[in-house]
Amino acid sequence: MTSSLELAVGLRVESKLPDVGTTIFTVMSALAQQHQAINLSQGFPDYPISERLIALTSEALRAGHNQYAPMAGLLKLREALAAKYERLYRRAYDPVEEITITAGATQGLYTAIAALVHRGDEVVIFEPAYDSYAPAIRLQGATVVRQQLRFPGYGIDWEALKQVISSRTRLIIVNSPNNPGTSVLSSTDLSELAQLTRGSNIMLLSDEVYEHMVYDGATHQSLALREELAARSLVVGSFGKTFHATGWKIGYVLGPQELTREFRRVHQFNVFCVNTPMQHALAGFLEEAAHYEGLQAFFQEKRDLLYRGLAGTRFTPVLAKGSYFLLASYERVSAQPDREFAAWLTRSHGVATIPLSVFHAEGQDRKLLRFCFAKRPETLYAALERLARV
Ligand code: PMP
Ligand code: GLN
Repeated sequence: MTSSLELAVGLRVESKLPDVGTTIFTVMSALAQQHQAINLSQGFPDYPISERLIALTSEALRAGHNQYAPMAGLLKLREALAAKYERLYRRAYDPVEEITITAGATQGLYTAIAALVHRGDEVVIFEPAYDSYAPAIRLQGATVVRQQLRFPGYGIDWEALKQVISSRTRLIIVNSPNNPGTSVLSSTDLSELAQLTRGSNIMLLSDEVYEHMVYDGATHQSLALREELAARSLVVGSFGKTFHATGWKIGYVLGPQELTREFRRVHQFNVFCVNTPMQHALAGFLEEAAHYEGLQAFFQEKRDLLYRGLAGTRFTPVLAKGSYFLLASYERVSAQPDREFAAWLTRSHGVATIPLSVFHAEGQDRKLLRFCFAKRPETLYAALERLARV
């Protein structure tokens, strides 16, 4: 195919990701806007962030914290994170050598992959998979090895995983609580992972951005909890999720000194450093209170509201164990492919969701939609009222 650029100036651009289009989150949020639909597609809250956090940001701006932050992040923010990890996961990360502040979890994940993965390496991801992993791996010239999570439930099939591990496997990316699977890793899963990687040359990248969103009394099983796993892992988190501020795009990466050193070699040329005044605000906020303590109950109430509501419609919801998403089947409503159905639901009933097949390279379609419940109760009630008419 000849592009218009080639015709105009003779320039040929060979895409590094020719099969990749615009992400589904952008597509569905745009469709929601176009049809003034209630947007339960892209994951972001519709309620305000803490007034205190806003006040701390404004204080930091006025105090003149407006120049470059240290490359690895503001030390007092890294110290506050170290204290949190010690408290919650009993792991003492050194704030100087082992914690780096990033421009959201997305940059943390990308930089980690770019720093650790070489051309020709194999990287295992689990499907359905969050959409940023595979492109980041491919851009390094590495091979994506896709392991399907067990259906239903979306847990890891450890026996099947053993079959795909090879001498070229360099990295395994895990994501718990899982987006979009809404499953969580158990303590037994951590033992399986430890056994699988023991004595190997495999590193782990653990996407834990939904760490505070686990339900029904479960506790988050961070890879930081196990010495053996933590020693070969980079653990990624996001303040956007924890503080209801997805637009802030500030995250962090924790890992042993040797891995963090490699991470920073890339980080310093990739972003160098992250937004200074907001790092001051976050550090102050983290120091003031264990704000995350109420989060589980806060989100569980929303999950239960949406689950109960959907159970009263022709959709069949699946009770999420983690994340701020809930899956529901529309099998009783339609046999349409999920992308078409999600578009139709947005246009005809004014509720936008995410079709699950987009998280599978081969497009497996199980007639599932992902609903974000990080919304005000009135938003969820309004959506349910519309969904009850489907
Ligand atoms: N990982 C997962 C599983 C996510 O759902 C998201 C998006 N919210 C991210 C990473 C990216 O987080 P951030 O917005 O901090 O870049
Ligand atoms: N993580 C968010 C989700 O899963 C979206 C982030 C984005 O838009 N890239 O909905």
